[in-house]
Amino acid sequence: MSALAGPALETRVYSVPLRTRFRGIDVRDGVLVRGPAGWGEFSPFWDYDVAESRRWWAAAEEAAVIGWPDPVRDCVPVNVTVPAVGAAHAHAIVTASGCRTAKVKVAEPGQTPADDLARVEAVRDALGPGGAIRVDANAAWDVDTAAARIAELDAVGLEYVEQPCATLTELVALRRRIDVRIAVDEVVRRAADPLAVDLREACDIVVLKVQPLGGVRAALRVAEAHGLPCVVSSALESSVGIAAGVALAAALPELPFACGLATVALFTADVSSRPLLPVNGALPVRRAEPDRLAELAAGPEVEARWRLRLAAVTAP
Ligand SMILES: [Mg+2]
Repeated sequence: MSALAGPALETRVYSVPLRTRFRGIDVRDGVLVRGPAGWGEFSPFWDYDVAESRRWWAAAEEAAVIGWPDPVRDCVPVNVTVPAVGAAHAHAIVTASGCRTAKVKVAEPGQTPADDLARVEAVRDALGPGGAIRVDANAAWDVDTAAARIAELDAVGLEYVEQPCATLTELVALRRRIDVRIAVDEVVRRAADPLAVDLREACDIVVLKVQPLGGVRAALRVAEAHGLPCVVSSALESSVGIAAGVALAAALPELPFACGLATVALFTADVSSRPLLPVNGALPVRRAEPDRLAELAAGPEVEARWRLRLAAVTAP
C-alpha cells in the first residue's frame, strides 16, 4: 500500500509542549493524516532515521486508509505514567490520575538510585497496597546493576520491570537472578524483524506500540508470534495516535495488564477537545477528532522539517 497509489491524504503538522521533560524532549510534534477511514498519526521521534520511520508511516496509513480490526472489548484499563520527577510530584501525578496502576520511569541519566527509590515509594504511598507498580529502565542497566536495583525497588512490590537491560542475552541472564517479571519493549520494536526476535527465557511480557511496529494489524501479528501476555503502550502520541493504541488493546484476544496509553496527560494540550484521557483508570474504545489543530499548528520551521521527512519516508 503506497500513499502515492492510494487516495490523496490530507496532512497537518501539530506541536504541543509537554508538562515535564520526557524521553529527552520538551515538545512533541508530528503529522496527522486524514483519509477515507479517518485520522492517523505519523510521529516518529527525531532520532529515528528514514528506514525505521517507514513502519510509523505504515501505521498512520492503516489508520487513515483502511481502519482497524473490530474490538473485542469496549474499554481499556490504563496505567498512569510517572516521568523521572521528584517524589512529591510523582505522588501528585498518581493521585490526580485515578489510575490503579502506575508505570514509573527509573534510571534517568543524572539521577541516583535513591531518586528512583524515593519516587517508587511515593507512588506506592499514593496508590496504596492494592495498586500495581511497574518500572521502566529503558535498557539503562547491565545485568549486575539491574539485579541490585530491582531488588531494592521491589521493596514496594513490583508488577514487572520493563526493558531493564539492552540485549536479549543480558535479559536471559538477569531473568535467572530475579523473581520480578520482565517486560520487553525496545528489543522487539527496534528489531529489524519484530516477529523473528527469539524471546525464549528473556521475558514474561511483551510491550506493543502501534507506530514502531507498523500498525495495529502488524502489532497483532507480533503478539501472536510470541504467544506472551502483551501490554499496549503509546509512543507519546496525541489522542489521534493514542486511538490506534486503544484499537490494538481492544482487539487483542487477552489483555491481562493495564496499558500505557494515558500519556496525553503528559501534554499541556491536545489536538482534540475530547482527548483520550482516562476516567476511573480506563480509556473508552473510540477515535479522537482533531478539532483543535488550528490552535496547535506547528510553526513554519517545524512544519517544513516534517514536510521533508514525510517526502523521504513516503518516497517509493
Ligand atoms: Mg518502554
